Amino acid sequence: MQRYSVFAVAREAMRQHTGWHRAWASRAPRKSYDVIIVGAGGHGLATAYYLGKNHGLTNVAVIEKGWLGGGNTGRNTTIIRSNYLQDPSAAIYEKARSLYETISQDLNYNVMFSPRGVMMLAQTEHEIRGYQRTAHANSLQGVQTEFISPQRVKELCPIIEIRGPRYPVLGALWQARGGTARHDAVAWGYARACSDMGMDIIQQCEVTGVRSENGQVTGVETTKGAIGCNKLGIVVAGHSGVLAEMAGFRLPIESVALQALVSEPIKPCMDVVVMANTVHGYMSQSDKGEMVIGGGADGYNNYTQRGSFLHIEETVRALVETFPIISRLKMLRQWGGIVDMTGDRSPIISPTPLGNCFINCGWGTGGFKAIPGSGWATAEMIARGTPGPLAAAFGLERFREGRFIDESVAAGVAH
Ligand SMILES: Cc1cc2nc3c(=O)[nH]c(=O)nc-3n(C[C@H](O)[C@H](O)[C@H](O)COP(=O)(O)OP(=O)(O)OC[C@H]3O[C@@H](n4cnc5c(N)ncnc54)[C@H](O)[C@@H]3O)c2cc1C
Repeated sequence: MQRYSVFAVAREAMRQHTGWHRAWASRAPRKSYDVIIVGAGGHGLATAYYLGKNHGLTNVAVIEKGWLGGGNTGRNTTIIRSNYLQDPSAAIYEKARSLYETISQDLNYNVMFSPRGVMMLAQTEHEIRGYQRTAHANSLQGVQTEFISPQRVKELCPIIEIRGPRYPVLGALWQARGGTARHDAVAWGYARACSDMGMDIIQQCEVTGVRSENGQVTGVETTKGAIGCNKLGIVVAGHSGVLAEMAGFRLPIESVALQALVSEPIKPCMDVVVMANTVHGYMSQSDKGEMVIGGGADGYNNYTQRGSFLHIEETVRALVETFPIISRLKMLRQWGGIVDMTGDRSPIISPTPLGNCFINCGWGTGGFKAIPGSGWATAEMIARGTPGPLAAAFGLERFREGRFIDESVAAGVAH
């Protein structure tokens, strides 16, 4: 793999950038692989990467119906945090957050991780109690968060109107090492590293069927022909229900559109991420200066990968109360992605009723932050055939056994 460095940039500048190699190879599918991963979003690519890096499995194909990173991975608002309430969630999200700290060096690809700090505003008495409880749980879990006062909120983010009118800021749950990363770069960095290990990333290739014999997966049917495999990982977020149906089982998942928007670029005015869950919106400022704004999910199931005016109006109206300065901003563009929601708002990382077929889904509105940890855990499960410690609590059987991992407070609107 061609190494990226300041010297490489300088060298290429001298020769009109004629020496750069393709970041990843574009290959036709082979007849069969040890492992096929369906879905080249962040979770699918990270799974493939850790299969190679941690378990030495490189006869792997990642199959993508569109372009890599073109699903929710390239559509999200990039918030990274690990301040979840339940122990299994804190463990996997904190593993992911800590991997983000060094991922640019690990992948030799700058994912622009920016641990600028994330705050979740408490704007009701109920939220104060909820976030104080989470801060206590986090200190037991070894996740560094604290509950801060309204004055500290104002110091960290001067553009917030902490006095109301309807919902004054009463404090916040603050994670100083939370932040953002460049979403495309995460997908591209993993893809480049996978390709370097000899894995095939096959884009514009839709999986249309799952093949099996005697209850064991044997391969997939695709728009580029049938491809055999010993093990199959389904990592397709909003389309998980569709793939599960092909593999002959049902999932406790609903798919809905979630949307976001950005403003015109403005001068730097906010260097933290702020989530206001009571009024239902959140905001950060991108390196380009755009205000990145996220809102709620559609109230009905659908597969429409686009935004709607209703949500823009609701979200902006809600945020103007807490950030009056945005009332004079022009909005630049909006978009949507299809998110996969479970009833307890926690993911599924699990073997399935079909032998050697595994699934990773249910990250809903908040899976970008989990990509490295999720890939790590899913690779471990696929390589060993059974979930390891990070994934053990997230099995499908929890819905039958009533062992829910309730993260509705941590994951409500929050991403
Ligand atoms: C507007 C919005 C804002 C968000 N904000 C945040 C945030 O701030 N922080 C956060 O942590 N999370 C956020 N999320 C959630 C996050 O984006 C997702 O949880 C995460 O990206 C899911 O990644 P993935 O790899 O599982 O899915 P995806 O990136 O969606 O990848 C799945 C891939 O599977 C492919 N696929 C589907 N069907 C097939 C098939 N039949 N054959 C082949 N390929 C197929 C798709 O084309 C897609 O590329 C947000 C989501 C949205 C939509």
